[in-house]
Amino acid sequence: MRKNYLLTPGPTPLPPEVSQVMGRPIIHHRTPQFQKILKEASEGLKYVFQTQNDVFIFASSGTGAMEAAVVNLCSPNDKVITVEAGKFGERWTEICSSYRIDTEVINVEWGKAVNPENIRQKLKTDSKIKAVFTTLCETSTGVVNDIEAIGKIVKETDAVLVVDAISGLGAIDLKTDAWNCDVVVSGSQKGLMLPPGLGFISVSKKAWNLIKIANCPRYYFDLIKAKEALDKVDTPFTPAISLIVALNESIKMIREEGLENIFRRHRIMAEATRKAIKAMGLELFTSPECASDVVTAVKVPQGIDGEKLVKTMRDTYGVTIAGGQSELKGKIFRIAHMGYIEEFDIIVCISCLEKVLYDMGYKFELGTGTKTLEEVFLENKIL
Ligand SMILES: *Cc1c(COP(=O)(O)O)cnc(C)c1O
Repeated sequence: MRKNYLLTPGPTPLPPEVSQVMGRPIIHHRTPQFQKILKEASEGLKYVFQTQNDVFIFASSGTGAMEAAVVNLCSPNDKVITVEAGKFGERWTEICSSYRIDTEVINVEWGKAVNPENIRQKLKTDSKIKAVFTTLCETSTGVVNDIEAIGKIVKETDAVLVVDAISGLGAIDLKTDAWNCDVVVSGSQKGLMLPPGLGFISVSKKAWNLIKIANCPRYYFDLIKAKEALDKVDTPFTPAISLIVALNESIKMIREEGLENIFRRHRIMAEATRKAIKAMGLELFTSPECASDVVTAVKVPQGIDGEKLVKTMRDTYGVTIAGGQSELKGKIFRIAHMGYIEEFDIIVCISCLEKVLYDMGYKFELGTGTKTLEEVFLENKIL
């Protein structure tokens, strides 16, 4: 018999409360009953996004909300900046290119955060830039970008700031309004403790001015249609009813714990994980000053088969972590501590990592990882 533990940066585990409400009978969406649910979801999302702006819900994965941002803000041949610090930054460039939008790419070494000054420089040299597409947590490298600093820079220009907060939202701080983020996109299966299937997007006043004139082709993801519907507490198409019911349940849990406590829990789990990794003699992939609190990327040690390590943890012991993506395949592994995860999940994960590494011949003192975790958790109590 084996239990399964999911410590990947999406999808993340579901609280039993969330799984349970998804079994409720389906209700029709053009009813006062569903309107009440949708209203609660819209209000709840504003709390999680820390915004007064409308937040729209699509039945799509997070990438759908990214595409929605691009097609609603831009017209073909518009000029935009995309920040590429990993695989998900590249996705912005790919989506923009699909719609023949002209991208000025800021390339960042993988494992490092973008220097906000580079964005300022690019914006200065070209006043026609419509939007800056960035990533809160670059899940492929474990990096968190300084969105607050970027927001201060973009605010002074005519460009809008778009943030992919698919991983991170509801787990690490992102003050949409206070940090001047015009458009924030997210998805359900990461910090929000839901199954995959919902995409979210918040839209500022400055962004609406662009949306009114943008003419990229769009149909399902048309925000003007979505706004007309939301103003009447409705959706243009059939919403993912069960997932929205589940969303209200997860937001209820988020409100009960409180955003500040949630951010603190993630901070402690991340610090404990990083310390445990170092205590085992392993090396972190991400530069320490920009390591995110939702996912820890670790270099595969010399002589160890990284893909086999991840596969053995999953298939032999039921502990699923993530390998590296694209150019980092086999070179790093990633432990997520995001969403419905707490200290004992991390202990299980590190204990399994120790066991498999030991078996594979990596030399270290067995138990140093878990001991370090317990010490950090004793010093920093998660309430
Ligand atoms: C997971 C992730 C995505 C992709 O989201 P999907 O829901 O798979 O479409 C995009 N950006 C970041 C930063 C992510 O972590």
